[in-house]
Amino acid sequence: MSEYPKVRFPQEGMNQSDLLELLTQMKSKDVKWRQGRVFSYIYFASDDILETVKHAYNIYFSENALNPTAFASLRNMENEVVSMTADLFHGDSETCGSMTSGGTESLLMAIKSAREWAKKNKPHVREPEIILPASAHPALHKACHYFSVKAVVVEVGDDYRATPSLIEKAITSQTIMLVASAPSYPQGVMDDITGIAQLAKQNNLLCHVDSCIGGMMLPFLAKLNYDIPPFDFAVDGVTSISADIHKYGYAAKGASVVLYKNADLRKHQYYVYPNWAGGIYASPTMTGTRPGGAIAAAWAALKYIGMEGYLEKAQIAMNATKKIQEGINAFSELKVMGNPAMTIFSVGSDKLDVYEVGDEMGLMDWSIDRQQLPPTLHFTINPIHYTIVEELLTDLATAVEKAKKISTHKISNSIQVNVAKGASRLLPKKLVGKIQQVAAKNSKIGEGRSAAMYGMMGALQEKGDLEEMVKTFLDKLMRV
Ligand SMILES: *Cc1c(COP(=O)(O)O)cnc(C)c1O
Repeated sequence: MSEYPKVRFPQEGMNQSDLLELLTQMKSKDVKWRQGRVFSYIYFASDDILETVKHAYNIYFSENALNPTAFASLRNMENEVVSMTADLFHGDSETCGSMTSGGTESLLMAIKSAREWAKKNKPHVREPEIILPASAHPALHKACHYFSVKAVVVEVGDDYRATPSLIEKAITSQTIMLVASAPSYPQGVMDDITGIAQLAKQNNLLCHVDSCIGGMMLPFLAKLNYDIPPFDFAVDGVTSISADIHKYGYAAKGASVVLYKNADLRKHQYYVYPNWAGGIYASPTMTGTRPGGAIAAAWAALKYIGMEGYLEKAQIAMNATKKIQEGINAFSELKVMGNPAMTIFSVGSDKLDVYEVGDEMGLMDWSIDRQQLPPTLHFTINPIHYTIVEELLTDLATAVEKAKKISTHKISNSIQVNVAKGASRLLPKKLVGKIQQVAAKNSKIGEGRSAAMYGMMGALQEKGDLEEMVKTFLDKLMRV
């Protein structure tokens, strides 16, 4: 261990203008989302929306929504955000919910509530189980992990959709909740929510709809007459919904809602510790201190954009999506997977290594996420992407041509993949991890080539190795 961390605590405070200049400079090296070159993490509709929401955030920069009685205005805004979204999702006078810091926290809360609900309503359950389609977001697994609920994974169909017939077989006496996605993230397809919710109801189970990414897009597309099957409280049997305002709601990061069919369900979410010297402690969600800014920004986004604004933005994003999908399907080497419902989709290939395409695009300054099982590239389309459709398709054509040619990268990649494949069968786990680290280093991840690493991860047979390898990788990223 070294004597002290790599960066020491600053002795003197920095000059303000130098500090702000430094921040701007540091940021300039990140991915270029404002130019529409990033296809994940960022949801950007327009400059005026961004500036308005930022302003709203700053007005409430210091305020804390920890205690709902302290800042009445924040409580009102939170109630209104819950109410407005409940309205959007066909809630009724019973529908209620909470704001959370994001999709993960909303899902954590939905699962925690389900566990507590089962303690009261299904007392025979000793080891609660929740059924998750294979496409369900990892935050749901994280929630099961945190709250000691067993995640039972069921396969999705060839169209990547979860269906009641696949789920039904997995129901046991210990099952407490079914989960469906609207849509699921990897391929952007809608699960059979009507069927799954009906199955839940027949079996006296809860049914959560993860509409984290779809919640602020699907209702508008439905109004624009796109073919969107019912997915919200209009579906009989749905008992809770998660929807992120910080995705297609265009709010500041740190804003999501978890909605429940009634207050009885939501009560299971709350935490109270009445015996503390500091007073009776009551907290509706996971976090203690809650940033007022995120609540104000979410409220401001909904109020500023309004139904008409969201319809307009949804139309632009969908137009961009359709153009990009048509362009991609026109390449004989690439195809859009499944039947995506909205503005997220994935691209795969039977003819070439799509990770290579992703790497080539990276070298041309595009940032596109890679997925596995099967290998695909993932696109999250924002209104801003309408302006870059042609450029994207032109560069994709170049990337496809390059990926088709045998490059030195490719050869070394395949050697590494084979080494990893062979090694994970022959060598002790720890050693395999080491080899992979070295191989990953050699594949120049930092220089825009990650195809090798993804290839190796796919080649690993033992999930234990993979988990360790990723944890080591995280450790390295965090550095101290
Ligand atoms: C983004 C997302 C989540 C998790 O939300 P975070 O805000 O990243 O915590 C959960 N489910 C789906 C389908 C998502 O797209």
